[in-house]
Amino acid sequence: MSRPAKMLIDLKALTHNIAIAHKQSPNSRVIAVLKANAYGHGAIEVANAIDPSVDMFAVSSIEEALHLRNAGIEKTVLLLEGCFSGSELDVASNNDFAVVFHNLEQVEALEQQALGQPISCWLKIDTGMHRLGLQGDDITAAFERLQASANSKNDLVLMTHLASSDLIAQPFTTQQMSSFAQAIAQLGERANGLQTSICNSGAVLGWQDIQCDWIRPGIMIYGVSPFAHEHKIAKDLKPVMCLQSEVIAVRTVPAGDCVGYGNTWQAQRDSKVATVAIGYGDGYPRNAKNGTPVLVNGKRCKLAGRVSMDMLSVDVTEIDSVNIGDKVVLWGCGLDVNEVASYADTIGYELVTRMPLRVPKTYLSK
Ligand SMILES: *Cc1c(COP(=O)(O)O)cnc(C)c1O
Repeated sequence: MSRPAKMLIDLKALTHNIAIAHKQSPNSRVIAVLKANAYGHGAIEVANAIDPSVDMFAVSSIEEALHLRNAGIEKTVLLLEGCFSGSELDVASNNDFAVVFHNLEQVEALEQQALGQPISCWLKIDTGMHRLGLQGDDITAAFERLQASANSKNDLVLMTHLASSDLIAQPFTTQQMSSFAQAIAQLGERANGLQTSICNSGAVLGWQDIQCDWIRPGIMIYGVSPFAHEHKIAKDLKPVMCLQSEVIAVRTVPAGDCVGYGNTWQAQRDSKVATVAIGYGDGYPRNAKNGTPVLVNGKRCKLAGRVSMDMLSVDVTEIDSVNIGDKVVLWGCGLDVNEVASYADTIGYELVTRMPLRVPKTYLSK
């Protein structure tokens, strides 16, 4: 028998979620963000499944971009952190990667290189997140130098990234937008007609006033809401990843006895406890608290005791018949990963993205 811990990846849910992005931003082209192995879902399988419904892919590094190219993906791939050396620029040029420029050192590297083909350059402006992007006079300097470089195609895109688009109506996003408008104004007429890219998932779903030429949805494609609270459009997203396993033992635990390492869960009554073949070695968060919801045979139960490397325990006292081999859902298909994440002091983004290779993925296309 093979280990029952597995991920089901629903490829049709991906296209459903992308359709929501298109509906929210009808005049924008869609860049599907596939960094970190498509947020843990498998970059190549995801890229192949959504290729006809998106306009471009985005990743963090040249390795991630080459991974897609070497698998036969032909669309332009945007390098969100740009290139870190002249030789990476060569690779980008030879493989039709579009490249973000977020500091003057990267602009300088472009000027120093003799590229076979000019590349598409995306100028990133820091509008307040203070992570990546040009600020102040450097924006104009980078803009002029990129426009002047023979290594740059004539299709510069101006981009920025929002720090708190997951907070609806929060003034910081509005501030960032005016800072972006100011930066563009500072470029004067030369910026007329240039394309822009701003929106991540939070902005696509929650800030419809912000429209741009290229949206960059990530987490929403995977059917996970970027919001901590209920949101009327996000609730139509379909989860792509379903993390499942099976019951491998069932026992009674008398009132007063404890379960698991450190005896952190104590039975308040005579209880029935199921042991499930999944643990932190399979990406389930070890710091999930007692009471974290788990679906056993489709019914909500509570995590009981510490998560081990390969197993966890669930209080199934209130479920009629639980047997070895019964199906357990840890998240996805009926249990929101964000809810599970909240019991482990993190967010759905982290739980899906850090899934280890140990857990096999089964891709469902029907
Ligand atoms: C990761 C990332 C995105 C996607 O963000 P989500 O919140 O997952 O939609 C968009 N743009 C940039 C620059 C990113 O790094």
